[in-house]
Amino acid sequence: MRQLLSGTAAARGSALGRARVRLPHALDIDEARIGAEDVEAELARFHESVDSVRADMRSLRERLHGALAQEIGEFLDLHALLLDDPELLSGIDALIRTGLYTADYALRLQRNRIAAVFEGMDDPYLRSRIDDIDQVIGRLHAALHSQRAALQGASGEILVTDTVAPAELAELQAQGVVGVITAGGSPLSHSAILARSLHLPLVVGAAQALQKINDGDVLAIDGGSGLVVLEPDAADLRGHHRRVAEVKRERRQLNRLRREPTRTLDGADIKLWANAESRNDVTEAHALGAAGVGLYRTEFLFLGSSELPDEEAQFRAYRDAVLAMTGRTVTIRTLDLGADKADKTGLALRNEPNPALGLRGVRLSLARSGLLHTQLRAIARASGYGPLRVLVPMVSGGEEVRAVRHALDEVLRELRAEGREIAAQIPLGAMIEVPSAALALPTFVGLCDFLSIGTNDLVQYLLAADRTNEALDGLYSPLHPAVLRVLRDVVRTGQRRGKPVTVCGEIAADPAFVPMLLALGLTELSLHPATLLEVRRTIRACDLGQLRAAAPALLRARNRSGIERWLQANPAG
Ligand code: PEP
Ligand code: MG
Repeated sequence: MRQLLSGTAAARGSALGRARVRLPHALDIDEARIGAEDVEAELARFHESVDSVRADMRSLRERLHGALAQEIGEFLDLHALLLDDPELLSGIDALIRTGLYTADYALRLQRNRIAAVFEGMDDPYLRSRIDDIDQVIGRLHAALHSQRAALQGASGEILVTDTVAPAELAELQAQGVVGVITAGGSPLSHSAILARSLHLPLVVGAAQALQKINDGDVLAIDGGSGLVVLEPDAADLRGHHRRVAEVKRERRQLNRLRREPTRTLDGADIKLWANAESRNDVTEAHALGAAGVGLYRTEFLFLGSSELPDEEAQFRAYRDAVLAMTGRTVTIRTLDLGADKADKTGLALRNEPNPALGLRGVRLSLARSGLLHTQLRAIARASGYGPLRVLVPMVSGGEEVRAVRHALDEVLRELRAEGREIAAQIPLGAMIEVPSAALALPTFVGLCDFLSIGTNDLVQYLLAADRTNEALDGLYSPLHPAVLRVLRDVVRTGQRRGKPVTVCGEIAADPAFVPMLLALGLTELSLHPATLLEVRRTIRACDLGQLRAAAPALLRARNRSGIERWLQANPAG
C-alpha cells in the first residue's frame, strides 16, 4: 500500500527502484516468541545464519591482499573468534530453547547482556570493544533476514540502511544501486558529498525507513526534497518521470553557461574552482570551465581499497589530474583521513574515543612521516606536468604549516638531486577549518601562500556540533553569527597580506548562500562540479557592490533567523 516517508534531501536526483534493506547494527527488535514446536526450526535458522556469516567473513579474508591485509585480517579474525564464542552462541540457543524467543529477539537480549558487562568496565578502550560485538551481531541479524537470493542480479535497487560509509558508495553504484535512503546521517557528511559527486540520489535521516520498508518493496525517492514514496501510485510515477525530465531540461539550460565567465552584474570576476574527489570530477571541472581544481581530496585514492597507494600510483593520479586541467592550477590536499574518512584503509587509529578531535588530517601525516614524504614526492613529481598547489588539512596553528613546508622543501631538494623536472616553486596553503587556526591566523599567515576555508569542519568545531549527527541538524549550520565573523576575519587577514582566500566547504556549493559569501568579501569559491553551473548562474545575477554595502547589516544579525532575513532581503538578481 502507498505510504509517504520523509527524510532530508542530501543528493539531488530521482530514483525509482526496488528496496534492498540492510539492517542496522543497533537492534531495535520487539519482543517476539515462538511455540515450543518451532524451537528446532528457529535454532536451525539461527545456526544457518551463523554459518553464512562465517563463510562471508572467510571469503572476505581470502580476498584481502596488500599492505593492509594483515591489519584488516586481524580485525576479521577477531570477529570470527567472537562468532565462535560459546558464551555468545550458547546464550542465544538457551534463550530460543527455554525462553521461546525468536532468534532475532534472542540476539537482542544476548547483545544487551554482553553490553552491560562491557559498560561496567573501567578501561574506555575495553568498553569500546562493544562495537565489535555489535558488528558481529549486526551481521548475524542481517543474515537472518537475508533475501539476497531473490534479489541477486537485479539492477535498479535502492539501498535502505542505517548509515552508509563514503567508501561503499562507488561500489554500490557500480553494483547497480540507483539510490540510497539512510535512517540516520546528515546532508553535510562525507557520504552525502560523495553521493552528490556520483549523482547518486540520497535521502538521509528517514527515521521510519527501516521499520516501514521491506526488501523488494518498490520505492520512488526524490533526493532533492527528501521524499520517499513506498509503493508509488500512478500519480507518483508521473511525478517521478516529470522530475527526471525537469532535471534533464535544467541541465541543458545550465550547460549553456559552460563557456560564460563567472562575472557579477557589476563586472567583478569571481574565481570558481572545482572540488574533486574522483578522476571524473576533474574531467567535469575542466568541461564546466572551472578556474582550476580548488580542492583535490586525495582520500579517494586511499579509501575503497585495502592497499596503500605507493608513490608511483599517487604520482600517476596527480599527474593525470594536472594534465586533465590543461594548464589550470590543481590544488592537491594532503591526506585528510580520520574521523568519518577512515573506513577501509586502517591507516587512522581505530577506536579513538573522539575521532573528529583525533589523529586526522595533517596530524596523521606528521605522525606517519613516511606517508607524508611519499605523498609530497608524488605531488612534487606531478608539478613537472603543470601548475599545482599543496593544501594542508586540519591545521591548528603555524607549527604544522612550518613542518609541512620543511618536508616539502626536503622533497624538492631530493627530486632535484635525482634530476627530475619539477616546478621551481610549489605554493603551500592551509585549510582554515579549526577555530584555533582561524583565530591565530595573523601569527602564521606569512607561512602560507594561500588559504582555503573548510566550512564543513569549521562549522562543526566552532559550534561543537558533529557534522554527521542528524539529531543536531538544526544546530549544525553555517548560518550562525560566529561563523560569519570568522569568515569575515579570515578573508580580511588574507587580503591584508595578499594571500588568496577560497571557501571550499559545502556552503560554497549552495546557490542560496552565494550572496552572503560575496558580501563577506570572498572572491574565490571551490565547489563540487555538480552545482558549479548553478552557482555560476547565481553569481552572474548578483551585484557585488550592493552586496558589499549590505555586509554590515549581515554582520549585525544576532541569530539564524536574522541571517535568513538578510538572505531573503538580498537574493541574487
Ligand atoms: C571542509 O571541512 O569544509 C572541507 C572542505 O573538507 P572536508 O569536507 O573534506 O573535511
Ligand atoms: Mg575538512
